[in-house]
This record gives sequence, C-alpha cells and structure tokens, in this order.
Amino acid sequence: MNKQDVIFVAGHQGLVGSAILRCLQRHGFANLLTKTRAELDLTNQAAVQAFFARERPTHVFMAAAKVGGIHANSTYPADFIYSNLQVQTNCIHAAWQSGVQKLLFLGSSCIYPRLAPQPMKEEYLLTGSLEPTNEWYAIAKIAGIKLCQAYRRQYGFNAICAMPTNLYGPGDNFHPENAHVLPALLRRLHEAKERRAPTVVVWGTGSPRREWLHVDDLAEACLFLMAHYEQEEIINVGSGQDLTIAELAVLLKRVVGYAGEVVFDPSKPDGMLKKLLDVSRMTALGWQPKIDLETGVREVYTWFVGQSGQVRR
Ligand code: GDP
Repeated sequence: MNKQDVIFVAGHQGLVGSAILRCLQRHGFANLLTKTRAELDLTNQAAVQAFFARERPTHVFMAAAKVGGIHANSTYPADFIYSNLQVQTNCIHAAWQSGVQKLLFLGSSCIYPRLAPQPMKEEYLLTGSLEPTNEWYAIAKIAGIKLCQAYRRQYGFNAICAMPTNLYGPGDNFHPENAHVLPALLRRLHEAKERRAPTVVVWGTGSPRREWLHVDDLAEACLFLMAHYEQEEIINVGSGQDLTIAELAVLLKRVVGYAGEVVFDPSKPDGMLKKLLDVSRMTALGWQPKIDLETGVREVYTWFVGQSGQVRR
C-alpha cells in the first residue's frame, strides 16, 4: 500500500472502521474513501457496484458488519445473517470486479467450533459445531472467508482474512442489552456509581473466559497485514491472554471506582466457556499488541465519560 493509493474503509463509523481510519491517517495515508450509510447502502448490490466502478479504490478494509453481544445475536438472528451476508458479498464481488489490488476481510473468533481446543488455531475452522448464541453471525463470517478464498483461487484476487478476538475501544456500542460485555458493564457500573446503587448485575455465571484486544491495536495489525500478508489461510489477531468475566468485572469496577457489589445472574447465557486465540502465526510475522487491558479500559472509560450521553446506546 502506497501513500497515494485510494483506500476504501467500509464501515468507517463503527468501532473497527473508525480505528482503521485513524490509523491510516496517523501513518500518512491521505487518499481515504469513506461513505456513510445514508450515502451508500452496502446491502444494495447495484449501488455498491456503481460505487466501486466510479471510485476505483485500490485497497479495501472490510470493516462494515452488523455486530452485537450475546443477547443481540440470539434476538435478531435474521438481521445478523442477512446484513452480513449481503454487505460482504456485495463488497467482495464488486471489489474484485472493479480491479481492487488488495482487500482485507475481518472475521471474528466466534467462527471457531464451540468445543475447539484452546487456544484456537486457524486450522480449527469448520471442524465442529458452532456456539448457538452467535451461530448466525458466525455462519455469515465463515461465508465471507470462503468468498475471499474462492475469489483468490478462481480469479487470483488478493483478499486476506483476519480473525480478531473480542474488541473494545472508543466509539463502541454501549447499549445495555445489545452491546458486548465490556462496554455494557462499563456503562452499567458507571450509572450505578452515579446513582449510588448497592449492586450491579453481571449476566451468566462469571466463569466464561474472554480475550481482549484494543481496537487501535487491531487497526495497527490490519495495516501490518495489508503490507505483509498474502496468504489464503485466515490469520488470528489477539492478545493471547484471557480472563474470566468475573475478573473483568473486578477490573471494570476498579477503573470506574464503583464501591458496590457485583452479583451474577445465571439465568442469562454464558455462551462459549472459553474463547482464546492462538496468535503464534501473527507473533511469528513480528506483530504484537501494545495496549494492556487495564490501560485500554481506563482510556475508554475517560472517553465514555467525556461523551456525556452522546455514545451509541
Ligand atoms: P460473546 O463473547 O460472543 O459471548 O459476547 P458478549 O460480550 O455479549 O458476552 C460475553 C460474556 O459476558 C457472556 O458470558 C455474557 O453472559 C457475559 N456478560 C455478563 N454481563 C453482560 C452484559 O451486561 N452484556 C453482555 N453482552 N454480556 C454480559
């Protein structure tokens, strides 16, 4: 990727896309192409084809996706599978058709089987059944990977696929029900602190383990992969370290400065018991994240408080 290349960041208003945009700007890329949802509906095949034919991007970061936490995934299965299939199919096909030089597709760690050995290696893809709480999203993401691989095999299209672990960062969705655990709990703890509420509810048993990566680290990894990775095989991007939801709640409590108690609600689903990526391929390429969890969470909390009610809810 050269500084004068025309780079399209699909989904530049989301958590991942906005981080990639900031990262490209930091690295001196100036020819950046973005479209809001109102300007370009990525589920509209004709509009997407016309956009690519007209603008002729040379590089594409595919960060546009419908995402959500464990509750949103199981409540809106049709929205998750339809939007993601549609958006990625339209973009990947139009990118190939219009002569894009390289495309990076972002998947998710939930593409791996529910009972995959941990940490999860890239080769475990499609070796077992998926976690039912997010299988709709996972199936769409697996189809996106297969699209990239098929277009590479048949047409020599340079599409690569990165599988990020659970992400967090500024610009996240803080919706109480539909968000992922980290922003949802951060908000709940903050509001409990303000109200002086004695307890805060954490869904599930608190025992599932999750790995976290700051979205600015992911963005750096995406630029690194654009520059250094050319293979058909998917590649994991994570921190290689996990902690339980109970431990995460303690960390968030400390950051927020909430003095009350955390209580667990086991009637809510736990989802996968452990979800940790094997990041040895990324490490062997020479890439590592820089932001440790507590530093990153402190920064996000400062950002959240600074938004004073303007965050996505
Ligand atoms: P997952 O990683 O795909 O399972 O997605 P989530 O981030 O939504 O959930 C991770 C874990 O955190 C699950 O075990 C949830 O039950 C648990 N959890 C605890 N409290 C919350 C909460 O307030 N919101 C969400 N989304 N999950 C929570």
